[in-house]
Order: sequence, then structure tokens, then C-alpha cells
Amino acid sequence: MRVINFNPGPAGLPLPALERAREELLDFQATGMSVMEHSHRGKDYEAVHDEAISLLTQLVGLPSSHQVLFLTGGASQQFAQVPMNYLTPGTSADYLMTGVWSEKALDEAKYYGTPRVAATTVQPDKHYTRVPRQDELNLDPKAAYVHITTNNTIYGTQWHTFPDVGGVPLVADMSSDFLWKKMDLSRFALTYAGAQKNLGPSGVTLVVAAKDFIARGRKDIPKIFRYSIHAENNSLYNTPPTLAIYLVRNVLAWMKDVGGLAQVEAWNRQKADLLYGALDKHSGFYRAPVERESRSVMNVVFHLPTPELDAAFVADAKQQGMVGLKGHRTAGGIRVSTYNAVTVENVRTLVTFMEHFMKTRG
Ligand code: PMP
Repeated sequence: MRVINFNPGPAGLPLPALERAREELLDFQATGMSVMEHSHRGKDYEAVHDEAISLLTQLVGLPSSHQVLFLTGGASQQFAQVPMNYLTPGTSADYLMTGVWSEKALDEAKYYGTPRVAATTVQPDKHYTRVPRQDELNLDPKAAYVHITTNNTIYGTQWHTFPDVGGVPLVADMSSDFLWKKMDLSRFALTYAGAQKNLGPSGVTLVVAAKDFIARGRKDIPKIFRYSIHAENNSLYNTPPTLAIYLVRNVLAWMKDVGGLAQVEAWNRQKADLLYGALDKHSGFYRAPVERESRSVMNVVFHLPTPELDAAFVADAKQQGMVGLKGHRTAGGIRVSTYNAVTVENVRTLVTFMEHFMKTRG
């Protein structure tokens, strides 16, 4: 029996993608071995690798100005790799601060240049309940890039309109909302996302970057950290995480089969409407701290009247087969992660549980 999985990442994967992996596990396409036992230089694996790139390209409608890369080290490595490639001592980049992950990204940039905080919505209690407005940005037109975190997994905030940063390259950590809908990735110089939320298992990091931006990266850093080396080698410079990329292929194929990103978006909006609708209706019991315009469609955060009730909510939900609801330790409360693989039905079950919990324990 599979549980209803609201984990923040690694998170639940679409069942058809897992079933396909199970069917092919011991004997991948009559080759007598699993995909992870194939050489990454062989045609059998390469077909999977290229199919994953091509599915992603088709799903988002990515123009030829941009390239898809499969890297490792998670989004955390990207926190370092971006400044390593684009900053030098004395040069600056602008960071828009919206949570713990942007703070970590900023800290890594300090090893390579002089990053600036161009906006922050941090509150005196160190928490964040919204993303900055355009008129709050204090941008430097000479910055090497502007870095944003499109969805803040811990605080449950999300940029619904991306900031206008003029001609400065825009770099985005999209770890927790990559492909939640069809988005114009070509307006970003570089986007990155660990796969383990909307895309697949942990172990592979997706990077989508403009070819001219890739070409501008520093050449005096080790090859393994240069985007240009990975781009020139179609992400086969060294052994890539073949099994993780295979699973990403299965998840992308599932997205295409169900009707593409328009369908995925429709489901995600329905899920968010159901949850925020319940929170608004019962706001005397369930307190949602995030300002309305910044509410995330991927991570819905709320608090019950006491920490004891938060804990009881998590425990009772588990009894009902729903897991992954405990808020991040820095934010507390409850966090419902409704990534692409979570169904509308799963969220309906949770909302029914929320109403029942309120009546019996409230
Ligand atoms: N950025 C965001 C927005 C995240 O949610 C996470 C992980 N939860 C990270 C970065 C760090 O990712 P990783 O563990 O893949 O390094």
C-alpha cells in the first residue's frame, strides 16, 4: 500500500514513472541488463539521456538559444558553481533574499566576489512571509547577474511575476517549482533545480542556461565546475547519474502523456485552491502566515493554534495514511508539499481530514 506522500523533497513520484522503472529494472529493452548497468557511452543509455533532454525541451518549448544540462551536487552545488563561473574578486552580483535557500546561495557567492543584497523581505523574527515587490528592488545595472529563488520551500512563498532586472542576466533557483507549469525559461540566463521535487529522484540537478551565458563562464576554474565543459560534452564529460536521469526521463514522459504542462498546471492550481480555500474558510483555527500574492502553489504552510495541536495533526494524518506534513524545523507548523505527482484527490482527502480534525480537536 502506498501512502499519500506530502514530503517536501525527496518527494513522491508519479506511479506510472515508477511502474515503468520496475518493469524495466532487470532487463532494459531486451539488453539483458538494467539501465544503470549500461555504459554511459553506449547507445542504449545515450538514447535515454537524449530523450530526457528532448522531452524537457518540448514540454517547455525551449528555444535553441538555451541548453539543458544534467549535473550533480544538488542545488547546493549550484549555489557555489554560479558565482564560481561568473564572479571574480571585486565583481558583484545581486541577490534577492526570500528565505533560507537564498541565504545559503548568497553565502557561497562571498567566496568568489562581492554579492549585494538587492532586496530582502526578512522580518525581525528572521522569517519570511512574502517575496519583494518590483519597487523594493535596489538593482545594480553592473551586477554580473541577479539571483532569485522562485519558490521558497520552507516558508511557502513563490514569485508569481518574475522581477524585471533590465539587461542583467537573471539566474534562478527553481528547485521546488521547476515545471509546475509551462514557463518561459528563455528569459533566464540560467535556472537550476535538484530533481527530487517535481522531476525525479535526488542525484541529478537540472540546469537550463543560455548558450551565450554558458560561453561567458570563467575558464580559469577546474573543468568539472565549468558549465561550458558540460555543455560541450552534452552532460557526458564524466559519468552522469544515469539511473536518476532515466527516472527523470520517465517523469517527463508521464507529464507529456497526461497532456503536458497545461494539464500539470491545472492540477496544481486546483490543489492550491482547495488547500488555501480551506485555510481561508477556517482561518480562526488554521493560520496561514504567507501574504496572499506570495502564496506558493507547491508548499502550503500553516499553523494550528498550538504546537501540541500541530504535532497531533501530523500524528493523526499519519494514521490516515498521509505523511510528510511536519513543517521545516526553522518554520514550525505544518507544510503540505503538493508537487506535480500529488493528485487532486490526495489533496481532497487531506482537506476532508482537516475539517474533521478541526471539529473533533478544535
Ligand atoms: N533550493 C531550494 C529552493 C530547496 O528547496 C532546496 C532543498 N530543499 C535546495 C535549494 C537545496 O537542494 P539540494 O539538497 O539539492 O542541494
